[in-house]
Amino acid sequence: GGAVRFEDVHFSYDPDREILKGISFEVPAGRTVAIVGPSGAGKSTISRLLFRFYDVSSGRISIDGQDIRDVTQESLRAAIGMVPQDTVLFNDTLAYNIRYGRHGASDAEVIEAAHLAQIDGFIQHTPKGFDTEVGERGLKLSGGEKQRVAIARTILKAPPILLLDEATSALDSHTEREIQDALDRVSRGRTTLVIAHRLSTVIGADEIIVLAAGRIAERGTHGELMKKR
Ligand code: ADP
Ligand code: ADP
Repeated sequence: GGAVRFEDVHFSYDPDREILKGISFEVPAGRTVAIVGPSGAGKSTISRLLFRFYDVSSGRISIDGQDIRDVTQESLRAAIGMVPQDTVLFNDTLAYNIRYGRHGASDAEVIEAAHLAQIDGFIQHTPKGFDTEVGERGLKLSGGEKQRVAIARTILKAPPILLLDEATSALDSHTEREIQDALDRVSRGRTTLVIAHRLSTVIGADEIIVLAAGRIAERGTHGELMKKR
């Protein structure tokens, strides 16, 4: 299960400015759709609507045919795993932060998830935040490492739907490739909506939707889109 459908979705944060101007697309169960487009196009707004941080102004978003407004917040959160662009971690061990994805997970499962996300070795340490007390096991984590903690958490949670906000632009190319590998691993076989900044990172998506100023400007596979350029 887990097919996601947007039907003629309009959305405004403020009444005088429409941000999404009639967006329709479907992510069939188990497939991957990527949303790309310039900054300000409305990409993150799409992910916020799917998570119901906001409700659509008009139109409909459904999962397996059911309007997400008819689903409890609890089951919506259980169905969707989000790897956000900027992960905020609890001031506790990375193992605790990973286990947050599924509280009943065993130590072995936590270690396996950490391994798949390539953060083995320091999961008993705590993240060093900006203004948190840092003990002797405090660890200054880079953006990429924090994102890998979020990936490990999502691997453990194993939700049917994944919402990936790629923030790889600020990372060096080696780290970017590692994160990409980890994301590819976690999205295999799941319904995945990727918010991407560049076409080159979503070559394998079943469909790429190019968003411009709140409208779908182009759509197709990577090969189809490249042919038009
Ligand atoms: P993208 O992810 O493509 O960069 P966003 O979805 O974040 O774009 O933003 C689309 C537009 O909505 C931008 O013009 C942005 O300024 C505006 N916007 C985003 N969040 C809010 C908000 N909370 N209130 C008002 N406007 C917002
Ligand atoms: P639980 O069901 O264990 O009480 P939550 O429903 O708060 O936990 O969150 C479960 C999962 O959903 C966690 O893995 C968390 O990362 C993710 N999640 C919940 N809310 C958000 C959010 N606002 N942004 C990103 N991820 C979230």
